[in-house]
Amino acid sequence: MNRLEGNWWSEPCEEHGSAFSLKVKSRLHEEQTPFQKIEVYETEKFGNLMVIDGFVMLTSRDNFLYHEMMSHPALYTHPAPKRVLIIGGGDCGTLREVLRHPEVERAQQVDIDEGVTRAAELYFPELCEFNDDPRAELHFADGIRWVKEAEAGSVDVIIVDSTDPIGPAEGLFNEAFYRDCYRALGGNGILVQQSESPLLHMRLLTEMHGAMRTAGFPDVRTLQFPQPVYPSGWWSATLAGKGGVLDQFREVDARNKVYPTAYYSVGIHRAAFALPPFMQEAFDRVRNQA
Ligand code: SAM
Repeated sequence: MNRLEGNWWSEPCEEHGSAFSLKVKSRLHEEQTPFQKIEVYETEKFGNLMVIDGFVMLTSRDNFLYHEMMSHPALYTHPAPKRVLIIGGGDCGTLREVLRHPEVERAQQVDIDEGVTRAAELYFPELCEFNDDPRAELHFADGIRWVKEAEAGSVDVIIVDSTDPIGPAEGLFNEAFYRDCYRALGGNGILVQQSESPLLHMRLLTEMHGAMRTAGFPDVRTLQFPQPVYPSGWWSATLAGKGGVLDQFREVDARNKVYPTAYYSVGIHRAAFALPPFMQEAFDRVRNQA
């Protein structure tokens, strides 16, 4: 199936016999970097669309769901998130949400591909509005190696905002990487990883829970949110915490936050961690086997 047919751009999901389409006006950008193919389209109704290697990364219209849920639940769970490391996230949307938190003193973003950030600056400038913040550090390097070489206990929260587990992101979804994250995290450290669709990817999700536990994290929890432009429209992020940190929630701080969010709220924070039985039972089985 062609990705572009007439005015319709489509992402087929052969394995699940489905596809997602957006009506586009024009292709704004096409670039083959040493790592991947980056395209940006102007759509009819969803603003700009970024595609990497044929897969939707984000649109102007609905990226707030993903970026808010990749950052705020973890940052309001950690008691004092001062040092944040984002692996991937080259579009800078997660970085922007992280830097809305006044407690954050340093936010390092490590994406393997500078081309993604340069394209985001051109076509998603609203996501890059914190790139010049003195607390922001933009590095272009392999996140797997970065975490391996990070000083022990040097980070409070690691957010893995990566592409799907193929190509350069494959090594971000395994026990060896989670062990390195565990070592790099301080006492109440939290690892957050985008963990695909609960409807389509439960195998990946349960394997992720198992690998995070085997890597040393005593507590692993998944939260869910809608994401209309990703396969099935239903997405998740998985948090792995050191000690009992995942039981905490700085609710008063979340309630009194001084910046706007379109999706995240105290109610959404609590609701997002409530899981339907098929998910809860699968994760309980992994926990009982660990
Ligand atoms: N929200 C998106 C999703 O779930 O599909 C992810 C967006 S973000 C653009 C993904 C980024 O991960 C890309 O910019 C890609 O370059 C980066 N990436 C992939 N593998 C990486 C690695 N090993 N180290 C650092 N960044 C990596």
